[in-house]
Amino acid sequence: MEIVVCIKQVPDTTEVKIDPQTNTLVRQGVPSIVNPFDKNALEAALQIKEKQGGRVTVLSMGPPQAKDALKECLAMGADQAVLISDRAFGGADTLATSYTLAAAVKKLGRFDIILCGKQAIDGDTAQVGPEMAEHLGIPQVTYVAKIDVADEAVRVEREHEEGYEVIEVSMPVLLTVVKSINDPRMPTVKGTMRANRAEIPAWTLSDLEVEPERLGLKGSPTQVRRIFTPEQRKQGEVIEAATASEAVAALVQKLSEAKIV
Ligand SMILES: Cc1cc2nc3c(=O)[nH]c(=O)nc-3n(C[C@H](O)[C@H](O)[C@H](O)COP(=O)(O)OP(=O)(O)OC[C@H]3O[C@@H](n4cnc5c(N)ncnc54)[C@H](O)[C@@H]3O)c2cc1C
Repeated sequence: MEIVVCIKQVPDTTEVKIDPQTNTLVRQGVPSIVNPFDKNALEAALQIKEKQGGRVTVLSMGPPQAKDALKECLAMGADQAVLISDRAFGGADTLATSYTLAAAVKKLGRFDIILCGKQAIDGDTAQVGPEMAEHLGIPQVTYVAKIDVADEAVRVEREHEEGYEVIEVSMPVLLTVVKSINDPRMPTVKGTMRANRAEIPAWTLSDLEVEPERLGLKGSPTQVRRIFTPEQRKQGEVIEAATASEAVAALVQKLSEAKIV
């Protein structure tokens, strides 16, 4: 079983910094972590490997420091890691990112399951996984909360507002996972020592079979016009009254004074 897990290194902050000139993320000076949902994806991959055998490869597109995220994944138990890094990939939107990641997966060779997080906590679009599946021409299931692998097929539970759908899908397949699927394991001391010794190859533009105009800023049809923190809403007012009908009357009075009704 060949399992690929896509890992994004994200800023460890809820206050994502944006360059107002370019409308892109500023990474400098912000501590980085593995995207939390991607740790769930890796844990799911490791559990499949423990049952079925095989190999888990972690893949990240990002700047050279994304190797730290990949090392953490090796320490958790991934077998190998590849960084995809080149100035030509910079400024990529989700379409260019997923195109580049799909090209890297093709270069890896055989794969049975690709696992992604349901979304990245900074970009938050949840587009990269589904777009990768489209580039690769394979089936996809999003919001997966349980995975059972049989011989040629995978049976998954897909979470939605009213419960779960059970879906059986053939391999190769791409799955994006939700937090409730598992509790990611901690890196072991032995794993950390192995990860620190590991050489992580960095693939550049020349390593991938790609059309250069589909990469980075050039290959990104999304135009970010403005990014801002929404203004905080004013606090609401609680109407105190002896009975519900008095409260409704007071509310209607206020709404009519404000010329809303
Ligand atoms: C016009 C434009 C310009 C941009 N320029 C920049 C820029 O200069 N620098 C910058 O940092 N960002 C930039 N971005 C943001 C960038 O597009 C996203 O960070 C990236 O495409 C991933 O999208 P997302 O964060 O919404 O991931 P989601 O789609 O929410 O991620 C879902 C899953 O996909 C996988 N995944 C996502 N990204 C990666 C990755 N890079 N490597 C491996 N797996 C991944 C993970 O498993 C993740 O859980 C730009 C976006 C736009 C629209």
